[in-house]
Amino acid sequence: MPTYDYKCRKCNHAFEEFLPMHKCNAPTEMPCPECKCKECVDKAFSTPGLHLDRRTNDVTKNKDPQFKEAMERVSKAAGVKGTKYEREIKGKYL
Ligand SMILES: [Zn+2]
Repeated sequence: MPTYDYKCRKCNHAFEEFLPMHKCNAPTEMPCPECKCKECVDKAFSTPGLHLDRRTNDVTKNKDPQFKEAMERVSKAAGVKGTKYEREIKGKYL
């Protein structure tokens, strides 16, 4: 069974749960174990391949120069530049 990371948007409390895949969203529907805030818990992906999904939920994404730089590179990559994906990336992240 994989371990999933979760983080509370309100108090920044981070925790891990060891859950079967079909239950991996369960903690996001539970109150934060620290501040008891409801609907504040986000799933934080630790898998590098899913890095982007995690960052789209990150309120600090636009302040992170490394992230912007990475998205800039993606938008200029062959197969992305000049397509709707480039516009999408620029609209969303840059
Ligand atoms: Zn919390």
